[in-house]
Amino acid sequence: MPDLPRSFSPSSAGTYRQCPRRWRFRYVQKLPDPPGEPALLGTFAHRVLELLCGDPAPERTIDRARELARQVWPETAESRDFQALQLDEASQRDFRWRAWTAIQGLWSLEDPADVEVRATEQKVSANLDGVPFFGIVDRLDADASGLVITDYKSGKVPRERDRSKSLDQVLLYAAAVEDSSGERPDRARLLYLGSEILETSVTEDSLGATTERFSDTWRQVGEACAGDRFEPCTGPLCGWCPYVDRCDEGRLEVQQRVAAGRMRADAPARALLGL
Ligand code: SF4
Repeated sequence: MPDLPRSFSPSSAGTYRQCPRRWRFRYVQKLPDPPGEPALLGTFAHRVLELLCGDPAPERTIDRARELARQVWPETAESRDFQALQLDEASQRDFRWRAWTAIQGLWSLEDPADVEVRATEQKVSANLDGVPFFGIVDRLDADASGLVITDYKSGKVPRERDRSKSLDQVLLYAAAVEDSSGERPDRARLLYLGSEILETSVTEDSLGATTERFSDTWRQVGEACAGDRFEPCTGPLCGWCPYVDRCDEGRLEVQQRVAAGRMRADAPARALLGL
């Protein structure tokens, strides 16, 4: 019977909700889940913005961000995960250009020189409704109305129907910050770099509903661990699951989708399964 993990994060909860079997591979068997190109691009952009926001406010300029991007680039380029992508020179240039576009996109949303940054990459642990929460807040700001939780996103803005769900992550950070500091943040925001800001007020109701969903997922994880039953949940995302070659149901799903022309050509599972 697998042990319950010592901590539970929004991304772990998201993986469980997407597919319990995938969660087992990742969090019980601890099999590697190497980041793909979009995740590495996000990590690079986050690192540059973290360093930028660690500088004194007046120095947070686009030129400074460009300088930091040059400094940080070798960390990314030499990492094993980046090397594993085997990008040729043109693709690496394209990667850097897209990463820079995301970084520069911060200025279309706000001027970082005007932000009072309290902390970056802040680790928060808390007990949320009995759940051992752990998360890392990209940026904790303060303005006239109070603390603001800010998280950067370098991907696409979610569809209308998924927008409020996507804010769960930052609301959980807000709940954890309140639990650990005693101060309730005023707002929680997702900054979709170059696109738009999704934002919500932090209220008793919004915190209650989000924490309840999180704790419900934790309860389901507990039941799954107790019975060692982690059902596969097949669907289009099997095409992006790094464990598809270990999962009979997922393999079948991908085979059927490929045969029906319903799987994108760039889905990594195709290469993994030789399809
Ligand atoms: S291949 Fe699909 S069903 Fe199997 S673990 Fe991955 S996401 Fe779940």
